[in-house]
Amino acid sequence: MAENIHPIFDKLVGRGDRENILKQNSRVIWMTGLSGSGKSTIAEALERKLFKNNFFCQVLDGDNIRSGINNNLSFELADRLENIRRISEVSKLFLNCGVITINSFISPTIKMRNMAKEIIGPDNFIEVYIKASLEMCEERDVKGLYKKARAGEIKGFTGIDSPYEIPTDPAWVVDTGADDVATSVDKLYEFLKPTLTFE
Ligand code: ADP
Repeated sequence: MAENIHPIFDKLVGRGDRENILKQNSRVIWMTGLSGSGKSTIAEALERKLFKNNFFCQVLDGDNIRSGINNNLSFELADRLENIRRISEVSKLFLNCGVITINSFISPTIKMRNMAKEIIGPDNFIEVYIKASLEMCEERDVKGLYKKARAGEIKGFTGIDSPYEIPTDPAWVVDTGADDVATSVDKLYEFLKPTLTFE
């Protein structure tokens, strides 16, 4: 009889049910930092490490977000905010699917990251600052973008003629000037493991 009174409840599967099947606590690991600081490198290495340890995870980055769902957005401030808003909403869907989501986006302002935290929920949002000086990022210039920005071929480039606001209270800092990739990921993994592990 009860199922006839509340038939909808039989159809609902909650986040906890999915986490239970996946045997993990889902979270959004939000990596912020300058272009070339190492966000994608660390995100991909962390994804491999988590996966090897039986955590079910997914990286979201410019490659799979800006090329698809956000391919109509520019790098103007308003569009950057909309970019982060949509990413946050997508992350929330992944979170509710029980997936550990590793986000790799410059997300240059505190306002943007606060918006992401609000949408995702403060308890689910783990801010990781990928620290590297502008000089170091410019020296690496992985994609040749700093050279173009300095030459005025790209306008509003973060760190050059658009601000980057350093996180004031990140959950974790990866100092890519101090540690190599493997060491950075090992330390980050050990920090995250207790939170992600399902009891
Ligand atoms: P972002 O995603 O922040 O734009 P990328 O990961 O694409 O940055 O590029 C960072 C570059 O810095 C890569 O070429 C990477 O190999 C290099 N690098 C050097 N040392 C480190 C380190 N310790 N951690 C992360 N990346 C590093």
